[in-house]
Amino acid sequence: MSVKKQREKLVVQKYGGATLSDPTKIKQVAQKIFDLHKSGLQVVVVVSAMGETTNKLIELAHQVSARPSLRELDMLLSVGERISMSLLSMALNDLGCLAISFTGSQAGIFTDDSHVNANIIDVKPFRVEGALKENKIVILAGFQGVSPNTKEITTLGRGGSDISAVAMAGYLKADRCEILKDVVGVYTADPKLVPSAKPLAKLNYEHLLEMTTWGAKVLHRRSVSLAAEKQVNLYVGAAANSQNTGTTISDSVNFETQFVLAINSFSSVYELKFNTASEKFKDEFSILLQNNQIAQMQFLFSNSHKHYFTAPQETLASVHEFETLQSFYKITTSKLASVSATYSQTTSEKLLIETRNILTQKNIEIYEGFKTKFSLHFIINSQQKDAAIQILHDLISNSNF
Ligand code: ASP
Ligand code: MG
Repeated sequence: MSVKKQREKLVVQKYGGATLSDPTKIKQVAQKIFDLHKSGLQVVVVVSAMGETTNKLIELAHQVSARPSLRELDMLLSVGERISMSLLSMALNDLGCLAISFTGSQAGIFTDDSHVNANIIDVKPFRVEGALKENKIVILAGFQGVSPNTKEITTLGRGGSDISAVAMAGYLKADRCEILKDVVGVYTADPKLVPSAKPLAKLNYEHLLEMTTWGAKVLHRRSVSLAAEKQVNLYVGAAANSQNTGTTISDSVNFETQFVLAINSFSSVYELKFNTASEKFKDEFSILLQNNQIAQMQFLFSNSHKHYFTAPQETLASVHEFETLQSFYKITTSKLASVSATYSQTTSEKLLIETRNILTQKNIEIYEGFKTKFSLHFIINSQQKDAAIQILHDLISNSNF
C-alpha cells in the first residue's frame, strides 16, 4: 500500500509576506490554519518575511556596507522568515493547538554552497516528519537552507519561499501545495498595469514556467519547474478566501484552441555586445559572472552579435563595474524592456509575424522578436512597454477565451 493511503491528507500552505504584514494578519492566518487542522488535515506551513522586512534588511545592510559580504547578507536576510515563523507559531499555540516552528536548516533544507541565490540539492525533513507524527502543525521559515558542505546558512533568491514550499510538498508527497497571497491567483497581466486583467482558473506547469521566466512575479520560476519535476499539485489563491477560486496548476490541462493566456514583461532589459563575436569571450564572461557570484542575471536572447539580459539594479551595477576593468564587452545604456505573450497552444513563425505586425502597426518599435514553445517575445523601448502590454492584452478579449 502506498504511503499516501495510510495517512491523513497533508497540505502544505505557503503564506506570502503581504498576508503576514502585521500582528492582526498573523492572528487571522493562525485562525485559518487552526480551522484547517481541526478539519482533520495534516498541515505544514511555509512563511515569508512580514511585509517589506526583506527589503528593509537589504537597505540596512547597504547603510553599513557598500558591498555587503554575501555570507553575512544571508545571515541577515534569513532572520526575516524566523520572525514570522515564530510569531505565527505563538499565535497558533494561543488558539490551543500544538505548533512548532523550524528554520530552513532545522527542517533539513540542504542547498549548494552559493549565497543569496542558492539551489536546494536535498530535503531531509526528519524533524518535520517527527512533529507531524505528534499531530503538530509545523511552521517553516521559507527562503532559506543550509549548505551541508560549508555549514553556512544560505538563502534561495528573492521570492524563494515558494521554492521551499514546493520542495517540502514534493518530499512529503503532500496532496496539495497552496501558495496563498494577497491576490486571488495568476492573472492575465499585472493588474496594476492592466486594470482589466483577470485571474486564470487553470494552467499547465509549462505555461506558468514560461510566464515566470518572462517576468510574472506571482511565483518563483524555480518553484514552478520543481513542481513539474515532482508532480506537486499547485494552487495559487487568496489567503483571505477559503473557496477554491484561485489558479490550479497541473499538467493535465488541455486547451482545445489557440488563444492568449497572459502578458508579462521585464522593465529593465539591457543589450550586451562583445567586442569580438568569438565564443571564447562568452565563456570568459560567464566565468566572470560565476567568480563574482553575479547569479541574478538572466539572458533573454542571444545571437553571435548581441545579447539581451535582465538583472536587478544591484547586479547591473556590478556588471558595469567589471565592464570598466575588462574591455571585451560593453553594455548599451538605452532603456529597453521585454513584453511576452504566452499562448494556450504552441506558437509558430506565422503567429510571430502576425503579432509583430499588430505591434508595429500601432507604432511599437521592435528591436528583436522571437518565440519559445508557448510564448512570443519582443524587445522594445522601455517607454513603449505599457502601451505594448495593453495592445497584446487586448488580444485576449478578442480571442474566444
Ligand atoms: N522574504 C523573501 C523575499 O522577500 C523571500 C520570499 O518572500 O519568498 O524575497
Ligand atoms: Mg517577501
